[in-house]
Amino acid sequence: MSVKRHSNGSRARLQAWLRGWWAHCRLCGQPGTELCADCLDQLPVLAMACPGCARPLPVAGPRCGHCQRRAPAFGRAWAAWRYAPPLDALLPRIKYHGDLTLARWLGGLMAERLPAEDRAWAEGILPVPLHRWRLARRGFNQAVELARPCARASGLPLLLNGVRRRRDTPAQVGQSLAARRRNLRGCFEVTAALPRRVLLFDDVMTTGATVEELARTLCRAGVETRVWAVARA
Ligand SMILES: [Zn+2]
Ligand SMILES: [Zn+2]
Repeated sequence: MSVKRHSNGSRARLQAWLRGWWAHCRLCGQPGTELCADCLDQLPVLAMACPGCARPLPVAGPRCGHCQRRAPAFGRAWAAWRYAPPLDALLPRIKYHGDLTLARWLGGLMAERLPAEDRAWAEGILPVPLHRWRLARRGFNQAVELARPCARASGLPLLLNGVRRRRDTPAQVGQSLAARRRNLRGCFEVTAALPRRVLLFDDVMTTGATVEELARTLCRAGVETRVWAVARA
């Protein structure tokens, strides 16, 4: 298993290096940078969102109805963009095609806008862990790669060994939120001492069920959490 993981990781790094050597816009192909100025303008910045769960809102306001009915296990959540075109074409390039150059670049772009209050509050950034089989197959964890520039920019350590994913829990399309929550229950395990205030980092926050389960697990270990996501559905 360790040999396979190594070869996958090396291949992903080689692909990333080749792409970086010939930088081009990932959306329109124009040479120069990972995303040209025109395509960059199209990225759907999440301007107004619920401060509790980062759900996009039509107007700025207090916590959304979901949060008021059932407060999340994490203190608050922030996302850089909405999971909408063209971002929904970029993130799968990272996850399924190993475009780690794009991950570093997008993470760097996100790092320019991180909420100062969260940066001052947190003691570390914990990317949502993958199950080790999935990590071995993919060769990398996209959440970790996107989090790296954010950790560097905020001067916070990346916490890569504190939590283990005990089961792989692929999201089933069409699964209800209740079913997804049941499916995830008990899938994370704290394996090492963690700081008391931790930012959970995910690439795409869809229903929020994954970070909710992770936040509950950490809460039981006495760790307070907030969430940073690259994109919010
Ligand atoms: Zn472009
Ligand atoms: Zn909310």
